[in-house]
Amino acid sequence: MLSGSGSSVMWFRKGLRIHDNPALQLASQGASHLYPLFVVDPHYMEPDPTSFSPGSSRAGLNRIKFLLESLVDLDLSLKNLGSRLLVLKGDPAEVLIRCLKEWNVRKLCFEYDTEPYYQALDTKVKNFALGAGIEVFSPVSHTLFNPTEIIERNGGKPPLTYQSFTKIAGQPPPPLTITHSSLPPIGILGSCDISEVPTIEDLGYGDAKQDEFSPFKGGESEALKRLAECMKDKAWVATFEKPKGNPSAFLKPATTVLSPYLKFGCLSSRYFYRQIQDVYETMPKHTSPPVSLLGQLLWRDFFYTVAFGTPNFDRMKDNKICKQIPWKDDDKLLEAWRDGRTGFPWIDAIMVQLRQWGWMHHLARHCVACFLTRGDLFVHWERGRDVFERLLIDADWAINNGNWLWLSCSSFFYQYNRIYSPTSFGKKYDPNGDYIRHFLPVLKDMPRQYIYEPWSAPLSIQTKANCIIGKDYPKPVVLHDSASKECKRKMGEAYALSKELDGVVNEDDLKILRRKLDEGKEQETKAKRSRNTSGLA
Ligand code: FAD
Repeated sequence: MLSGSGSSVMWFRKGLRIHDNPALQLASQGASHLYPLFVVDPHYMEPDPTSFSPGSSRAGLNRIKFLLESLVDLDLSLKNLGSRLLVLKGDPAEVLIRCLKEWNVRKLCFEYDTEPYYQALDTKVKNFALGAGIEVFSPVSHTLFNPTEIIERNGGKPPLTYQSFTKIAGQPPPPLTITHSSLPPIGILGSCDISEVPTIEDLGYGDAKQDEFSPFKGGESEALKRLAECMKDKAWVATFEKPKGNPSAFLKPATTVLSPYLKFGCLSSRYFYRQIQDVYETMPKHTSPPVSLLGQLLWRDFFYTVAFGTPNFDRMKDNKICKQIPWKDDDKLLEAWRDGRTGFPWIDAIMVQLRQWGWMHHLARHCVACFLTRGDLFVHWERGRDVFERLLIDADWAINNGNWLWLSCSSFFYQYNRIYSPTSFGKKYDPNGDYIRHFLPVLKDMPRQYIYEPWSAPLSIQTKANCIIGKDYPKPVVLHDSASKECKRKMGEAYALSKELDGVVNEDDLKILRRKLDEGKEQETKAKRSRNTSGLA
């Protein structure tokens, strides 16, 4: 026995914070020794030189950097409490089981996680721990509510509308108020291979070519500072109303930019919720869900609950709440979108912001997701979801999938005739195109009247602006008017088929529909051609 029978392990994964952390509280209570652990998981962190941008196969470098910053901050906070973060590398289940054996642990604590990856991992670890007589505590603290309880209260199914969700959910439990003045000491480490928090160079990203890193720095300290800044402006909090914000505001974003902190649990959503309520108490006139700031946190919990209770939530196939639509798998269009080369400056600037910052405003996400799927390109939402999942610093399995389902009119929202214009939507907020000029400097000298549609500028103007369309900046990949019309037609056919088959559309049905749509397109082209040759308009 190395450290006495009262040793606990606090296994950090998300929940990278000291405040409102019930797992940490349970782990430290009555423990003679406490091992705060983080496992660098190659599945998530290993460099993948074949990926389309620096990073691992699952995460872009911005998010990996954000995570490392969050770990450094956590380590510092633990050191201030007489402890430190023990970092290990490898398959998390294997590493953890080795440590549990070596340290003769009595209690294992970690935050409950609803993501499928963690569900599988946690089952492995729990099975070992229970067999070895180790007590396991896995409290829910990543969300406001416990998704399992909400699903139970709804008769075993997740509520599928925000309104029904909020009715069932009621008020969330308050955050923990206890503060730690110190933590139990770390026990003997034995032969476990412990290191300090690695740098991006240690992880093998030394020569990664990334021109600009996200301006948002990871960590609990940064999260609490950012939250306090937001809450200071009580009038702003009280009048917050989505979707009224300006998606093109980048020097001072129109929303809190707390999403990456919530994603990694540097910030507790319950603490955030409580802080908003405190502001509301002093500002009796305030906005309400779903549009208020408090309402945004409820959206987060809504998607967590539906995601947890819906088998195959992250795909179209075998997903009961997802409309079956004959999307295209067009690599060329996908890459043009991903790399900010669609020729639509508003769309491309947003995609450049995604790559450089890992964060964009909610409505900006709406525009590019709609453009890729049902708006213009008709590319499968899962392909866009993958790009977001890699590049966003706030990439979150439940929220990302939920919003892609929404934006592609595959679930939750079905008004496929409502499309974001890739030219006029951004103009409403930013007629001068400052956002475009910042993220697409090749267009910085394009006159204001052409900034959203540079292909329409006369050649002399393009020459003067040092930007020839088709050479310095791409021509549009599609004609918006005809592309969006074609998308609506396909969505209409897919919805009609779904209605006809009572929502049970299988792969063969989709194949037949795809053929029918292609034939329709061919006939239309032929008809147009013959009209043109016969001189008819
Ligand atoms: P605020 O407006 O300040 O809101 C506060 C918090 O509420 C956010 O941090 C977030 O946790 C939550 N929230 C706000 N809007 C939503 C929403 N629509 N759904 C669920 N929760 C919400 N958000 C992510 O956190 N991770 C993702 O991977 C993600 N992918 C998205 C993909 C698409 C296609 C779209 C349209 C939206 C996506 N969102 C995602 C939701 C939303 O855009 C971001 O949460 C928000 O823009 C983050 O900025 P903020 O923190 O300033 O938000």
